[in-house]
Amino acid sequence: MNELEKLGIEIKRDEPLAPYTAYKIGGPADYFVNIRASADLPKVIEAAEKDKIPYMLLGGGCNTVFSDKGFRGLVIHNMANKIEVHGSQMIVESGTPLSLVIAEALKHELGGIDKLFGLPGTIGGAIYGNAGAQGVEIGDFVVSVKIYRSGQGIVEEPKEYFQFSYRHSFLKKSHEIVLEVKLDLPTLDPDGAPIEVLKFRAEKQPKGKVAGSFFKNPTANESAGFLIDKAGLKGLKVGDIEISQQHGNWLMNLGSATQKDILAVARKTKEIVKEKFGIDLEPENILIDEHGNRIDI
Ligand SMILES: Cc1cc2nc3c(=O)[nH]c(=O)nc-3n(C[C@H](O)[C@H](O)[C@H](O)COP(=O)(O)OP(=O)(O)OC[C@H]3O[C@@H](n4cnc5c(N)ncnc54)[C@H](O)[C@@H]3O)c2cc1C
Repeated sequence: MNELEKLGIEIKRDEPLAPYTAYKIGGPADYFVNIRASADLPKVIEAAEKDKIPYMLLGGGCNTVFSDKGFRGLVIHNMANKIEVHGSQMIVESGTPLSLVIAEALKHELGGIDKLFGLPGTIGGAIYGNAGAQGVEIGDFVVSVKIYRSGQGIVEEPKEYFQFSYRHSFLKKSHEIVLEVKLDLPTLDPDGAPIEVLKFRAEKQPKGKVAGSFFKNPTANESAGFLIDKAGLKGLKVGDIEISQQHGNWLMNLGSATQKDILAVARKTKEIVKEKFGIDLEPENILIDEHGNRIDI
C-alpha cells in the first residue's frame, strides 16, 4: 500500500460494492477509491501495480455483477466527467455518464448519439462493451480514444484499433483503461426526438434493480428474450432473482439477491435454451469473481 498511500487520496477499506451497481449485488472491496480527473487514473494504476494490488475499473456498475465475497484488491470508481465541445467533436473524460454526454451534444445541436438516450452508465463502460440501442452503437461515433496501457503509459489509438462489433471492443482482450474519448457527431435531426426513445424504454423495459439485457442476442434476427420467452422461462426464480415477466432477457433483483442467484438462473436458462433450440447463449452482463476473473456461465 506504500505507493497508493503516497498519492494522498482517500482510500476506503472494505467498501460494500452493491450500492455502486445496478443490480445492487456485491460484497466488499478490500480497497476503493473515487477518481474525479482522468489524469489521476494512470497515477492510481501505476501505484497499484507497484504495490502489487490487483485493480479493476468501475464506471456506473450498470453491466457488472460483483461476487458476493466482493473483490480482493482495489476498485477504481471512475467519476472523471469533463466534457469539451469543438465544432462537431466532443472530448469526454471516461467517467462521464452517457446521459451527460448526450445532454451536452443536444445543447450544441449534435445528434446520432441521442438514440442512446436512457442507456445508463459511463462512456468508459460504453466503449468497453460497445453499448448500443435503436440501431446505433457508441463505436459509430468514436474518432480516437486515449487509453492507459500497462508498461507504456498513455497512448491515443484510432477507432479501428478497438475493433468495435456487437457488444464487443478489443479492450475486452487488452485490458487497457479508457481515459478520454473523442467523438464526432452528426448535426441533430430535429425529427429524431430523444423523447420517443425514452418512451420506448419506459414502455418496454422493466424497472427496479435491473441491468439491461442479461444475454447477447445470438443473431441479429433472433433475440435472446424471444428464445427465453418461447422456452417458457419467464418468471423462473432462484432466491431473489427472477426472469422478468415483461422482458425475457432481463433479470430482476426482487430484494436481496446474490451473484449466486444470478448464476443459478443464468445457467438454467442457458441449459434449457440449448436443449430446446440448440443455441448457445452468451452473457452480456459481466460476472466477476472475487479475484476479478470473469465467470463462465
Ligand atoms: C436499465 C438499464 C438499461 C440498459 N440498456 C442497455 C442498452 O440498451 N444497450 C446496452 O448496450 N446496454 C444497456 N445496459 C447495460 C449498461 O448500461 C451498459 O453496458 C453500459 O455501457 C455500462 O456502463 P458502466 O459505466 O455502468 O459500466 P460498468 O458496469 O461500470 O463496467 C462494465 C465493464 O467495463 C469496464 N470499464 C468501465 N469503465 C472502464 C474504463 N474507463 N476503461 C476500461 N474499462 C472500463 C469495467 O471494468 C467492466 O468490466 C443497460 C443497463 C441498465 C441498468
